[in-house]
Amino acid sequence: MEGAAERRKSLVSEGGQVALSIAIVTPGQLPWICSIAMSDGLYARYDPHAIEARRQAAWRARDAFATPSVEGDRPRRYIKPSAPFTSGNIHIGHVRSYSIGDAYARFWRARGEDVLFAFGFDAFGLPAELGAIERGLSPSDWVAGCAEHMRSQLERLGYSFDWDRTFVSSDALMYRWSQWLFVTLLDAGLIYRGTGAVDWCDTCQTTLATIQVEEGGECWRCHNPVRLIQRAQWYLRISAYLQENDERLDTLAGSGVWDEVALSSQRFVLGRVDGVEVDLDGSDGATLTAFTPHGDAAALARFVLISPKHPDVETWAGAPEARARLEELRSGGLERSDRDAEAIPLVDTGRTLPSPADGEPLPVLISPLVDGRFGATAVLGIPARDHTDALIAGRLGLGQDDEQQDPTEPLPPVSAARPAVRYRAGDFSISRQRSWGTPIPIVYCDGDCGVVPVPVEQLPVLLPLDLKPTGAGNPLAEREDFVQTTCPRCGGPARRETDTLDCHFDALWLWVPVCVPPEDRERSLEEIFAHEDLRAWLPSERVVAGSDSGNFVFDQRIVTKALRDLGPLAFLAEGEPFAGCLFHEMVIRDGRKMSKHLGNVVDPDELVARYGADTVRLATLYAARPQRALNWSDSAVLRCHRFLTQVWDFTQSQLAAASATVGEGDQAAAVDREGTEGERMRDTTEHLRARLEKWCAAAVEKTTEEMLALEMHSAVRNVMRLFDRIKDFEKRVLARTAALSTTDRDALLGALGVLAQLLAPLAPHLAEELWIELGSDEDDQIPWPGVSSRVPA
Ligand SMILES: [Zn+2]
Ligand SMILES: [Zn+2]
Repeated sequence: MEGAAERRKSLVSEGGQVALSIAIVTPGQLPWICSIAMSDGLYARYDPHAIEARRQAAWRARDAFATPSVEGDRPRRYIKPSAPFTSGNIHIGHVRSYSIGDAYARFWRARGEDVLFAFGFDAFGLPAELGAIERGLSPSDWVAGCAEHMRSQLERLGYSFDWDRTFVSSDALMYRWSQWLFVTLLDAGLIYRGTGAVDWCDTCQTTLATIQVEEGGECWRCHNPVRLIQRAQWYLRISAYLQENDERLDTLAGSGVWDEVALSSQRFVLGRVDGVEVDLDGSDGATLTAFTPHGDAAALARFVLISPKHPDVETWAGAPEARARLEELRSGGLERSDRDAEAIPLVDTGRTLPSPADGEPLPVLISPLVDGRFGATAVLGIPARDHTDALIAGRLGLGQDDEQQDPTEPLPPVSAARPAVRYRAGDFSISRQRSWGTPIPIVYCDGDCGVVPVPVEQLPVLLPLDLKPTGAGNPLAEREDFVQTTCPRCGGPARRETDTLDCHFDALWLWVPVCVPPEDRERSLEEIFAHEDLRAWLPSERVVAGSDSGNFVFDQRIVTKALRDLGPLAFLAEGEPFAGCLFHEMVIRDGRKMSKHLGNVVDPDELVARYGADTVRLATLYAARPQRALNWSDSAVLRCHRFLTQVWDFTQSQLAAASATVGEGDQAAAVDREGTEGERMRDTTEHLRARLEKWCAAAVEKTTEEMLALEMHSAVRNVMRLFDRIKDFEKRVLARTAALSTTDRDALLGALGVLAQLLAPLAPHLAEELWIELGSDEDDQIPWPGVSSRVPA
């Protein structure tokens, strides 16, 4: 270390006011001076606002969180926070999420590794559009304002994001990547245009992705009932990679860096069902492969159900009446309340297939009930084994005599049955009839070319920024200046696609751009996506996000595999964007989800204004382990604020005492209660110092383990315990001697230095302030104990 800082302390008295003045003098730099007023034995109170402003200014001045260049050979970690929607405000759930991620990022920097910790705002989508409509703003102005405000909130909280790498997904420089991805996946056959039943919200006049439909069948946005309609859509073919995502799960589970919440979310989204399948050969030559999860009971099948999304469904709905009813089911819509087995539409095809056991004819029906349970497939209906099938059988008037079957009697074997797997996850629509989204780079030629993708070199297709959405329909379709264009293939007149991409599609790659230095993002598309820095930072070492991110992560894992096979991400052999994953649960209050409606929302701004950022951050870490819901209570905030205040006061009093004894050597300590000699006294406290040292070592070891495991709630407790032990050390020394000897004082200050190091990822402002006062060089990253020996003594 060059130009070691020198700490000078002096007690000054002015007009009866005593002050401790600490000057840190580094050669070649202006001295940093801190004066702490002490009157009536009180030291400067813990003032989080002043401390936090000072530390944040210092971080900005030294560009403390800039992403290191990838030229060095230090270990690298890309810690990926969630990409917030530009919804207007940072809420307490964000604070929880980013406090965990930030503590982890700071921990690794302290251990000497290179860290990339940055995100992009997820700015497109319905919530942003509706927010703009509500305020009479254009969506682009609204999201720009939101992003700025949210950034200021996050900066006030002191998160160590590299803001230079931040971006807004609605920036044309960014969404051209969405368009590039669309064209690339379309070319590979992984995006296709189809018609099918999709969830539709009449209020929002838009189709919805499955994840946008709430459990009760309501729209995620307006909470009105959703129904199914038939529409031309663009689909993402995830079915091609479901099996690989499934097969990878064991490896992820074995890695030890995917937590159980994250793994179970991946299993849930995948929706794997194990069973058997049989080929049923009809008398008319038609064959259908039918699945059942009740492999041992295939012989008890009483009917066959086909999903309306089954690729061969048209063949089975051949009869005029069945075809008409299938159409009705598709275009007439389907209320979500009709999706229960009691009410869900059943279309009788009028055809039968032979039972796999005895060849008895089984009626063949079409029903959307299949999709939610087994995906777009065909299944055997087995009322004797399956409650839902029993309800269907009742509606069909099929006899229940099979239920009388003696369970001890072996069932007739179905020799043709073979083991099979089905996945509930399926291809989903990525297009929306809304104007605030990435324009889909497709034109419809008025001539003979048909549907033509916009060539990559002509991207981006720009979204007009002066659109005035009203909340109904799609204003983009009314903009003739946008719609009218030229066919890239024949040069004749053509019309642009007026659907935009669902922001879920943007999210498929939003984890990529921060890996690329911002100045390189303006290069041509292919160069950027093939940027050499991607190899250095990917896969992300850990994604830290809310437990509701399962769908995002699942689809990001799918797209990574596609881009691996297509070339750009070929270096990710396993096709995984994230080596590790931590999903934390949400913040609730009184056992309920926070909502304005319930009036139980915790406002982080208010808390920060009252207690400071360190307290709020520490409280969210302390209150619960990430995998558990954090049931908000103010007591965690008060507990953490008291702790930080005590750490501050105690350290100040120790520093003042140390300063007061400067120059007196061990003399002050030599005057002990009984007047014993210095030497004997040192003997009486030596074991206490040894014990303090052991406590520090134990705290370092345990806290390191907890930080590695992202168990920050335990890490906070370890640090609190260490503080109690440091105070206990002082108490025990004072029980033996009148005052701390210089040796004891140094041991105590050294322990406080360790405490500051361990606290640094958790309450970074206070920790760094104390670390500096304890004698460190201000312009330095606080090292993790053991990483460097620069523990102030
Ligand atoms: Zn709606
Ligand atoms: Zn053409």
